[in-house]
Amino acid sequence: MIENGDHEENLSDGLSIKELFQNNDGLTYNDFIILPGYINFSSDNVALTAKLTKNITIKTPFVSSPMDTVSESTMAVAMALNGGIGIIHHNCSVEYQANEVRRVKRYEQGFISDPLVLSPTNTVAEIYAIKKLHGFSGIPVTESGKINSKLLGLITFRDIDFLSKDHWSKIPISQVMTPIDDLITAKNNLTLKDAYNILQRRKLPIVDSDGNLVSLIARTDLEKNRDYPLASKDNRRQLLCGAAIGTRKEDEKRLEALAQVGVDVIVLDSSQGNSIYQIDMIKHIKSTYPNLQVVAGNVVTQRQAKNLIDAGADALRVGMGSGSICITQEVMAVGRAQATAVYKVAEYARRHNIPVIADGGISCVGHIVKALTLGADCVMMGSLLAGTHEAPGEYYYQDGVRLKKYRGMGSLDAMTACQELSAASRYYSETDHIKVAQGVSGSVVDKGSVHRFIGGYLYTGIQKSLQDIGCQSLEQLHKEATEELIRVEKRTTAAQIEGGVHNLHSFEKRLF
Ligand code: NAD
Ligand code: IMP
Repeated sequence: MIENGDHEENLSDGLSIKELFQNNDGLTYNDFIILPGYINFSSDNVALTAKLTKNITIKTPFVSSPMDTVSESTMAVAMALNGGIGIIHHNCSVEYQANEVRRVKRYEQGFISDPLVLSPTNTVAEIYAIKKLHGFSGIPVTESGKINSKLLGLITFRDIDFLSKDHWSKIPISQVMTPIDDLITAKNNLTLKDAYNILQRRKLPIVDSDGNLVSLIARTDLEKNRDYPLASKDNRRQLLCGAAIGTRKEDEKRLEALAQVGVDVIVLDSSQGNSIYQIDMIKHIKSTYPNLQVVAGNVVTQRQAKNLIDAGADALRVGMGSGSICITQEVMAVGRAQATAVYKVAEYARRHNIPVIADGGISCVGHIVKALTLGADCVMMGSLLAGTHEAPGEYYYQDGVRLKKYRGMGSLDAMTACQELSAASRYYSETDHIKVAQGVSGSVVDKGSVHRFIGGYLYTGIQKSLQDIGCQSLEQLHKEATEELIRVEKRTTAAQIEGGVHNLHSFEKRLF
């Protein structure tokens, strides 16, 4: 409300985003804060619909990074169900990556297509180890210990909880499991509704006409009867899925295999995307698969952005050296502070109607909101998703903390894995074939399930933050930022300290 003859412009506190960057400083998300706006709507009514690429719009701005400790099919399914998208990494064989994409495209809600399976020779001790790691029971037992092999029985805790711990490692599962003859199974043409009616035990194994296990239905999943109204789907109602490739000649084969299994988005995975290699690959994709959307990058300057947009990119991935596992800026002396990179690239890309994905350096809800306010359409996350159940890899304990491994794709660890796949050449410099690491290997704490983390915490957190800013949608946020209505302020070091928890003897930071 404006009183006493005050004009709106007299009340314009702080800086516009344009003014924030006018000194050409390299700013990070922590270097500024957004000033509150006016609330006249409920946070539940804030829509987070976002453009991923020129032709793809998703209902939440979340993208999982193509890293081998972040995005395989389980992650991509969870991301898509919650309105985002997962990008399957390419530190694996062509067949493996294509199969992961196929799994996402063929995903049917309620059916577990890659259940944990045991063989009859596994021991009871191994089940307890699995329970400790995964926290679930009811595991199918097949001849080979793998899916698509003859189903022999099902082992649940009811079958083993009376056994003395001293004997766990000596008793094979075959002695205690519920054998196939005592089990209810269903054929693989049943619907979820049928499954509801026949599910008596906690798990219902689905077999083919030869008795081979093909999937599993969990009663708990059905009971939750999750409806995912925001799910990212194509026009055939299949979940959307992305996949990363490199820019070498041999990546054309990978591209072909991914296109065959119906990948929706290709991410050209490079720390410095402004290269003849990437431009040629964009042109190749656009001429060979005109319907495939291409995310090019990474870029951090307008000149880089221009080259890739001119070549035909459908979106840009922004970030060089800002990732949590990244040592690029230290080793290469090249990169850019992430807030500046996002603002500069988004400012240019918007003029060409090309969406921007802010990639790397996101460690909390606030960073996501800041990236979106600076002009990003979506955010790509690595470390934030790496500790979830859906990320590849097993949990382990260190000093009593439950952790998962997380590593940079340019770490020596990841490069060695890649080398074993005879694709290591992309990490060697062209001249001397010596590896130069640009990332580290580490660990992140257990964050529970993506469904609760992304679909619950991040989604609601961003809605509430946008409410504080006074915007009911990402579209409005972008519009008001461009029109200089969103006001921000630089933060001194003291302001940053004040903005964090301070002056407490001790505290526990629980977020949701
Ligand atoms: P890259 O494949 O772009 O580059 C590796 C090397 O291969 C470079 O020397 C490049 O010039 C060369 N190359 C690529 N295509 C070529 C071709 N057709 N012919 C000849 N040479 C070619 O990969 P990268 O930049 O080293 O990144 C590797 C991984 O690490 C990616 O997953 C990337 O996302 C990640 N990474 C990201 C960042 C970041 O800040 N975002 C930083 C470092 C690494
Ligand atoms: P995070 O979300 O801060 O953990 O950053 C994830 C991003 O870091 C990825 O999406 C990549 O762009 C980038 N990245 C992945 N591997 C490496 C690496 O080895 N070095 C530098 N950056 C990397």
